Amino acid sequence: MRPPVLDPLFAPVSTLPGIGPKIAKLVSALVGSQPDRDATVADLLFHLPHSLIDRRHRPGIAYSENGDIVTLDVIVGRHMAPPGSSRAPYRISAHDDTGEITFVFFHPRRDWLEKTFPEGARRIVSGKVEWFHDRPQMVHPDYALAPEEAAEMPAVEPVYPLTAGLTSKTLQKAVRAAVGRIPRLPEWLNDAYLHQTGWPDFAEALKTVHAPAERQDLDPDSPYLQRLAYDELLASQLALAMVRAHMRTLGGIARRPTGDLQRAVISALPFQLTDSQVGAIEEINEDLARPVRMLRLLQGDVGAGKTVVALAALAQVIETGAQGALMAPTEILARQHYASLAPLCDKAGIRLALMTGKDTQKERRARQAQIDAGEIDLVVGTHALFQGTVTFRNLGLVVVDEQHRFGVHQRLALSEKGQGVDVLVMTATPIPRTLVLTCFGDMDVSRLTGKPAGRKPIATVSVSLDRLEEIISRVGAAIAEGQKVYWVCPLVEESEKIDLAAVEDRHRVLEQVFRQKVSLVHGRMTAAEKDAAMGDFKSGTTRILVATTVIEVGVDVPDATIIVIEHAERFGLAQLHQLRGRVGRSDKTSSCVLLYKGPLGETAGARLNIMRETNDGFLIAEEDLKLRGGGEILGTRQSGTPGFRIARAEDHADLMEVARDDARLILETDPDLTSPRGTALRCLLYLFGRDAAIRLLRAG
Ligand code: ADP
Ligand code: MG
Repeated sequence: MRPPVLDPLFAPVSTLPGIGPKIAKLVSALVGSQPDRDATVADLLFHLPHSLIDRRHRPGIAYSENGDIVTLDVIVGRHMAPPGSSRAPYRISAHDDTGEITFVFFHPRRDWLEKTFPEGARRIVSGKVEWFHDRPQMVHPDYALAPEEAAEMPAVEPVYPLTAGLTSKTLQKAVRAAVGRIPRLPEWLNDAYLHQTGWPDFAEALKTVHAPAERQDLDPDSPYLQRLAYDELLASQLALAMVRAHMRTLGGIARRPTGDLQRAVISALPFQLTDSQVGAIEEINEDLARPVRMLRLLQGDVGAGKTVVALAALAQVIETGAQGALMAPTEILARQHYASLAPLCDKAGIRLALMTGKDTQKERRARQAQIDAGEIDLVVGTHALFQGTVTFRNLGLVVVDEQHRFGVHQRLALSEKGQGVDVLVMTATPIPRTLVLTCFGDMDVSRLTGKPAGRKPIATVSVSLDRLEEIISRVGAAIAEGQKVYWVCPLVEESEKIDLAAVEDRHRVLEQVFRQKVSLVHGRMTAAEKDAAMGDFKSGTTRILVATTVIEVGVDVPDATIIVIEHAERFGLAQLHQLRGRVGRSDKTSSCVLLYKGPLGETAGARLNIMRETNDGFLIAEEDLKLRGGGEILGTRQSGTPGFRIARAEDHADLMEVARDDARLILETDPDLTSPRGTALRCLLYLFGRDAAIRLLRAG
């Protein structure tokens, strides 16, 4: 049960002043932590300002720099109203001791302007100054107050990431009210550590970041942000540690088969394993042989060959008579895994089944009956499906493919599917160490370094969309030579409809130009349609596959050699790298064309440069972290560390390690969180949405 002291923070944002149902929707989309639910007061409080406006900056008109936000103390001059029906802006001149300025208003409400700016009156006006033809102007000042009202203007104003339809004034007002609702909470940090760091308490930290006095208060290393980041990291590490401890108490099963089945699978492969594949398989075999649960992360760049390692692990467990499951994030991937594993399983005598969300009730029941009867050894399916209703007779190992946000909830779901289930998580994005820790806790890690022999680096170019025709004709030449081409269109989050139109248009144009069938895959198609399209492309019936980013993870068509990524400037580095990894999967030379629409922003330009310069996924991941940390998208939620709202891997890595040790110590001394600090820590877990782990405590 959630501690009642937290209730005010878990009230919906619609209980705050100025937030009606419509605004509540916008705010929820912006700050909410759970889809389809109204954001809470806590969600809003964790939406931190990314900068501040300092209205104490009063340089005088002549000394205001272009683009600065300044506060001016002026005498209002003449009003220059546009004649009659003219659409021209309304202008008001004003001056101080240093010079003259014009205030500019579009769509003016004259009566308001006349009341607010009486000619000859003194006014305190604040807003952004722009120099235009050597004259300063201010369009729609933020404040215009009589001297006696000047105190109404905050000296320093936090600036929040916003969304269309939500004004900063509305948000500020709601946040101020939310701050007023922060209850007195028990301290969950260790006294000695608090003393050592000199951090404020949680409430003070939160209050200060929403009402910063100085710019430095919002720095990632200010005591306020450090405190909040640490709280969040501790919540996450504690939850992960609790799950891990729980899994350990459930115990694992020592699996020591002869290894014959694993050898059969490996010898069915048409290639030699790489050294690091062999190494990873050995590490996994050792884990499996121990009577504790395996919780291992298999990291390897795109195309490194993780799937066969997974299959080898599954074979080892299946030989002991247990069942295995391979979970993929998308339907396409599940089907592809099934297709590529089927011949190997067939040769080795592993009975394989595919389960997807698209199966009919009848099919599903039939499959389930086979699983219950032990007639199936290995089930391939989507994460969603697996988290749902499927049950196993004797589940031994779950492999989770390509899932970065494999959180506490999923792990709990897994631990309930069988006894002592071992878990192998595969991730393709080479996650830097700090991120591994934040997302996965202290899992054991196997890394696949290097790629299978004979792979060539992928030549990458970036080309402006203006040169689209040139690219189309090069693609034409390539398919005439028998090459295969992916053509990726981006997903614009705001509108699925626009995306669909974009990808369908591109498909139509390419079919027209090349006078041949082009395959098309996007998220709105049925599984059968996707299958058919992928099948055509794989078999070579079609030479071009136009797709949205559904192909981002894992799709494997080894003889595809060109990938064109449209609107490459909209993609993050990790995603570009993933997409590019669809090619370069054979001994043929491959290339990647990043088609961008200029002009490129600084960060987007840097991303494309990195892509051109390197194929090294680890390097790309590190650069990604740097760019996302300081880039133009600073302060928006997408730019943060996945699963975290305040802490950032690039800024708070050192805190992460402290939090991990802290969490371990907590569970050693107070495994059920019953001490006073333990009780306070329960509040912390709820606050940061990590409370699922509390269910695991005996004194839950
Ligand atoms: P990822 O690590 O991205 O999941 P996959 O497991 O899909 O990579 O493997 C990429 C491709 O490389 C597949 O076509 C697979 O059959 C092939 N492959 C895997 N291991 C080797 C190897 N040791 N030698 C040659 N090809 C391999
Ligand atoms: Mg894969």
